Amino acid sequence: MIIVMNANAPKASIDRVVAEIERMGAQAHLSQGKFRTVIGAVGEEANLDNNHLASLDGVEKVVPIMKPYKLASREFHEDDSVVEIGGAGKTPSVKIGGSHAACIAGPCAVENEEMLYKIARHVRDGGATVLRGGVYKPRTSPYSFQGLGLQALKWMRACGDELGMPICVEVMDTRQVADMEPYVDCFQIGARNMQNFDLLREVGKTRRSVLLKRGLAATVKDWLLSAEYVLSQGNRKVLLCERGIKTFEDSSRYSLDITSVPVTKQLSHLPIVIDPSHCCGKRDWVPAVAKAGMASGADAVIIEVHYNPAEAQCDGPQALLPPVFKSLMSQLKLIAGLEKKEFSEIGELTPA
Ligand code: PEP
Ligand code: MN
Repeated sequence: MIIVMNANAPKASIDRVVAEIERMGAQAHLSQGKFRTVIGAVGEEANLDNNHLASLDGVEKVVPIMKPYKLASREFHEDDSVVEIGGAGKTPSVKIGGSHAACIAGPCAVENEEMLYKIARHVRDGGATVLRGGVYKPRTSPYSFQGLGLQALKWMRACGDELGMPICVEVMDTRQVADMEPYVDCFQIGARNMQNFDLLREVGKTRRSVLLKRGLAATVKDWLLSAEYVLSQGNRKVLLCERGIKTFEDSSRYSLDITSVPVTKQLSHLPIVIDPSHCCGKRDWVPAVAKAGMASGADAVIIEVHYNPAEAQCDGPQALLPPVFKSLMSQLKLIAGLEKKEFSEIGELTPA
């Protein structure tokens, strides 16, 4: 349930409500709106005494949240959340959500140090402000390239620092979280791991941002419940990523569910990132789908880029060539403007 406080309720009243929620064996999560504080009480509803909570000083009303996800819901947080990637150490922070748009780009996988720096410079020059690159790859075949692991992650960190870009890297297993945490700014949870609940809890305990891809056969409700796993551990920096789902259609790799953008925006305050690369599986279609994604109200895009896709170890056919990426970005900026959003620019980012 949520406890809506009166406008300008004093801190002492808020603290009292939090203490009472905890006494009843639930967790209290605060959401600070423009005018008032909303407190989410998460736990066994049966143990929560609404009449008692409603009678406390400063409480305007107590409202049950009917949805199975609570902290991810619009009821809990009315305004669009703005999630930051980066901001620790020397890394600048990039905001995503509300009026803040951004592009996350880079190779599918880090193949060696030189190619990483080369692609990173290309995407930075094209207008990306967050660098992506996989170091543990979830491949369908165990004989395909699996990623270079921690060594590649260290290159990602150094490259991001040198170019002033926070980094987003996929984590596949709970055992990798502690090793990766000192290096990453944003953990990517891949589509195949969307319901790896232990992994969701583990990244939820960190203070890094989490890009949560929608599962290949997950409903919007499943996806938001997975986000709830992360949020319930106290990590509020969750970004949802629509990357296409399995349908009967087999002319493209997956089907991007564009409708999920307005649907999810209505249900949740979390920012949405569109991944046109993985749903298309073929570079020819990526620009059209990226533009449709931004026009549907998404807050960001994540795009794979390679200067020599024919030789790429992973996902070469869908990687955009740097000049195509750059011209796509100039179009995405125009579309974002129509949606009252503005892409972050490298020049305006300042180290934290
Ligand atoms: C990726 O981003 O390279 C990736 C493997 O994505 P997904 O989990 O969406 O397939
Ligand atoms: Mn990929």
